[in-house]
Amino acid sequence: SPKKRSKNFKEVNMGMSEQEALKEATRCLFCKKPLCSIHCPVEIDIPRFIDAIKNKKYDEAIKIIKEKNNLPGVCGRVCPQEDQCEGACILNKKGNAINIGGLERFAADWELHHHKAVAPGGFATTGSGQSQSGKKVAIIGSGPAGLTCAGDLARMGYSVTIFEALHDAGGVLVYGIPEFRLPKEVVKKEVEYLKNLGVEVKTNFIVGKTAVLKELMDQGFKAVFIGTGAGLPNFMKIPGENLNRVYSANELLTRANLMKAYLFPKYDTPVNIGNKVAIIGGGNTAMDAARVSLRLGAEKVYIVYRRTEKEMPARAEEIENAKEEGIEFHILTLPKKILGDDKGFVKAMECIKMKLGEPDSSGRRRPVPIKGSEFIMDVDTVVVAIGQSPNPVFLKATPELEVNKWNKIEVDPKTQATNIKGVYAGGDATYGADDTVIAAMGAGKRASKAIDKYLKGE
Ligand code: FAD
Ligand code: SF4
Repeated sequence: SPKKRSKNFKEVNMGMSEQEALKEATRCLFCKKPLCSIHCPVEIDIPRFIDAIKNKKYDEAIKIIKEKNNLPGVCGRVCPQEDQCEGACILNKKGNAINIGGLERFAADWELHHHKAVAPGGFATTGSGQSQSGKKVAIIGSGPAGLTCAGDLARMGYSVTIFEALHDAGGVLVYGIPEFRLPKEVVKKEVEYLKNLGVEVKTNFIVGKTAVLKELMDQGFKAVFIGTGAGLPNFMKIPGENLNRVYSANELLTRANLMKAYLFPKYDTPVNIGNKVAIIGGGNTAMDAARVSLRLGAEKVYIVYRRTEKEMPARAEEIENAKEEGIEFHILTLPKKILGDDKGFVKAMECIKMKLGEPDSSGRRRPVPIKGSEFIMDVDTVVVAIGQSPNPVFLKATPELEVNKWNKIEVDPKTQATNIKGVYAGGDATYGADDTVIAAMGAGKRASKAIDKYLKGE
């Protein structure tokens, strides 16, 4: 129940039972030209894996998925399927698309629970690490973009090393998305799978500090993929943002997920969360920050968003779950100022009401302030979740790399090639990325194909 689950960090979505999965798989029409697969950024053969489930060939199902996707347990849980495969499913016309994400998760969990690691055809599950081509590739960052590129290149026979700044591999999958949505055990198992394919992971290695890009290339890495993500939080630049108990969502989530604040005192890393928490933003990060705040003990949690719910970028399931758990939505509302007490802690927030005007460059209707509609919100914690930019550490140490005015790396969208020969990039660090796990994975996949061609001299 929402009341019970909002007090702990256990996984909320329980997944499908075998019976439910079989029933769902039977509904599939096994279309000759499956629109679902066309709209999957990593091109999973969806009807084929659903057919395998229908015939109770679960190991076959996961094998088919893993031909294209190294992280099915992750994707089955966090992909916005309503905008991708499920959004394109022909059965939408009858208002009831196949629950493709649920079936993907079922197959992935079946593999996890049976302690089997089924590798895609032609590749051994363990010990396939020795390089067939003798060429080394470096991957910077272990988020979904880096993991995908690494896995695909390892399967092609390259000797792949991931360099990760943090002490754990997974990027946002480990430090951003909370345990109750994506158990860290699932991420760990899927990273293990990649290691079994031969990928080496070097953690606590900041490229730009521990070594610079040129030094990696001098060490014999013939190609490099940059998947450093966007870990630098954006702020609103309004008065009061430097008060105590104003957090970036990034900090709050990292402290909860990676530093296990919710396990205090077992982990001596508590977060000082107040009773009334305002989360600014309407994306997945905002929903996660809101639900984490509730679980850390806040009595009231508000989502404050300047457009309407229709324009919120968060997955439909996250919005629904947040509402069920009692999070209040204040739409068409923009914070103007955060007010503090005499000790420098947040005591309230001044906001203004908005209305929707003409569409802006993103195609969404622009929010416009309503004159004289200012009001005070009674809050003692403010969490800013209005987007993130690429972390500048790597970029500052790599001035030869072309970036745009937002510090996003410029790439050729077909090959993910940067302006530096042999250096590719993808995911949230690049210009044109749409900031989802699967889009980052799609970019990693395109880059792996291009790197293979480059290293073969094609
Ligand atoms: P990241 O996942 O950010 O990984 C980058 C990695 O690079 C990190 O591990 C970082 O430590 C490392 N790194 C950075 N600099 C260096 C360096 N100099 N040297 C070495 N390593 C470095 N998307 C969805 O599809 N569904 C969701 O439900 C969803 N929820 C989200 C919730 C939150 C809280 C957030 C923040 C994002 C969410 N997203 C979601 C977006 C999605 O997680 C990202 O689009 C995706 O993770 C981007 O992948 P990436 O590989 O480009 O980068
Ligand atoms: Fe099955 Fe829908 Fe894909 Fe057709 S579009 S194959 S019905 S999942």
